[in-house]
Amino acid sequence: MQFKFRIATKVFFGEGCLNKNKSEIAGFGKKSMIVTGRSSGKKSGALDDMTKALEELSIDYIIYDKIENNPSLENVADAGKIAREEKVDFIAGIGGGSPLDASKAVAVLAVNDIQPVELFNNAFDNRPLPIIAIPTTAGTGSEVTPYSILTRNDIKNKMSFGNDDIFPAVAFLDARYTESLPYSVTVDTAIDALSHAVEGYTNKRSTIMSDIFAVEAISVFGECLDNLLTNKIDYRIREKLLYMAMLGGMVISHTGTTIVHGLGYPLTYYKGIPHGRANGMLMAEYLKFNYEAIKDKTDNILRLLRVGSLDEFGKIMKKLVNTELSLSEDEITLFASTGAKHRSVAQNPRDIAVSDMVSILKNVFKVW
Ligand code: NAP
Ligand code: FE
Repeated sequence: MQFKFRIATKVFFGEGCLNKNKSEIAGFGKKSMIVTGRSSGKKSGALDDMTKALEELSIDYIIYDKIENNPSLENVADAGKIAREEKVDFIAGIGGGSPLDASKAVAVLAVNDIQPVELFNNAFDNRPLPIIAIPTTAGTGSEVTPYSILTRNDIKNKMSFGNDDIFPAVAFLDARYTESLPYSVTVDTAIDALSHAVEGYTNKRSTIMSDIFAVEAISVFGECLDNLLTNKIDYRIREKLLYMAMLGGMVISHTGTTIVHGLGYPLTYYKGIPHGRANGMLMAEYLKFNYEAIKDKTDNILRLLRVGSLDEFGKIMKKLVNTELSLSEDEITLFASTGAKHRSVAQNPRDIAVSDMVSILKNVFKVW
């Protein structure tokens, strides 16, 4: 039995947790940069709560509210430059995975005068600024991961960077901030969280510790499944989704993801499919492809979800993602070769070649 387990983030969970624990912020410095999306900070109410807390603590702040979905290197470089010029002491990321991941890049760029592409070296002369993370989606778990996923237009793909220094220092998880989410984003992000748990549970780097979190996350998703399918998503369900998304983040912090994410990135880059939805399209085929190597774990996933078979699981995912997509032969070839470069290939439960990725994609999508 061997494992390493570390989550470097102090987590506060529950309604009103930011206001109740705002003294946690006091020690990080005199000036903050809030990094958020165009609307997520405002719509969720989290931006108001954060600015109020900072004002009460007499901490100065600037707001950068131009983070794109699937933030690009150019986008985080712009925010990072402002953070450096303004000499801020810490970063507060508010939003879904996009602003939270961006806040990690900004925390590095604020104190390291490097080319944005050098983020992917994962080693920095100066320790990144402390990060406070406030998720407004229940999906990525970025509030408890050491990863930042950025869009690289130079290589036409998404890529992750990170090391232990970009774990957020503090995270405030309040499900009220997810109540303003549209149904489709609620579902897409919940699928991302499930995907983290499933991919972490089944990949070769899983440990006895990460499995505890994965099993709990999958089981809680199972409790929410009918509500997701029927759009009956009240506060109690939102709390469960936020909790399971956090658990999913704790899982992948230790295991990383799999080719579900690796094949999902080109679907987002080239086809604009939201991140979680892309994972949802691929998850059942991933489990089918690997079934013989992870039979017990796959059967356990189905049991925890109270789903009878992998085929039924595939149908449920199809209903949730609710998107038809056809790909050309050229796209299949391109996406498979892009997926094959994902760092998780060596962690796949069984050996996987580019031709297998082609088969997976052809089983999922209509080909024209
Ligand atoms: P997102 O891209 O952050 O947000 C999706 C949409 O939801 C945006 O339009 C956003 O608005 C809106 N939104 C967010 N919160 C809202 C709220 N409370 N009310 C109303 N609208 C709201 O989506 P995400 O799925 O959370 O994050 C996806 C990104 O995270 C991807 O880049 C993915 O690769 C990455 N990711 C990171 C990790 C990790 O470990 N770090 C893991 C998995 C995925 P705005 O545009 O105004 O923000
Ligand atoms: Fe993800």
